[in-house]
Amino acid sequence: MLNADVLILNSGFVPIRISSLKDAICLLMSDKAVPVLEEDRYVRSPSVSIRVPSVISLVDYSSFPRRRVAFSKLNILYRDDMQCQYCGERFTVRDLTVDHIIPRSRWTQVTGKPMTEGFSSWQNIVCACRWCNSKKGSRLLHEVGWNLPREPFEPEYMPYIVLSMDKASKKGWLPFCTFNVRLVHMIH
Ligand SMILES: [Zn+2]
Repeated sequence: MLNADVLILNSGFVPIRISSLKDAICLLMSDKAVPVLEEDRYVRSPSVSIRVPSVISLVDYSSFPRRRVAFSKLNILYRDDMQCQYCGERFTVRDLTVDHIIPRSRWTQVTGKPMTEGFSSWQNIVCACRWCNSKKGSRLLHEVGWNLPREPFEPEYMPYIVLSMDKASKKGWLPFCTFNVRLVHMIH
């Protein structure tokens, strides 16, 4: 049972990580955290009996870990919400590619910059379905008559905790999973 998961919130009730029950109990015993949601069972040792926490909040930690979003294909797809930025349809990862808006062969001519400056960047890459990608080829957007729904940007932030909806629901964590958490539906 000491391997059960506990959702750790900062002092502002933002989820920051999932820890083992053992770590959570250490935090509670050392007064570094307080229980927020408890289960109907107890952990007992010869000297103490403590209700099993499901959610605890840290007393002295109000910030949350930030990390720069890694530049990767998957994160481009997440930024664009799995939606082809050319036709607007949503696809699964299998049918999605990342496309350079200004293609390699035109970069220097169009922007006057060397390839190392911005060609492979958040601003020049969007999520595209493989059909739109091949239709566009090495042409520019105005040459195919397409518009982007929004300017591509570097995301400042990605959710820190990825959690299955099922688990969050079973553990009673859903009310806490508004910020800093991405809930995903797992396929059983
Ligand atoms: Zn498309």
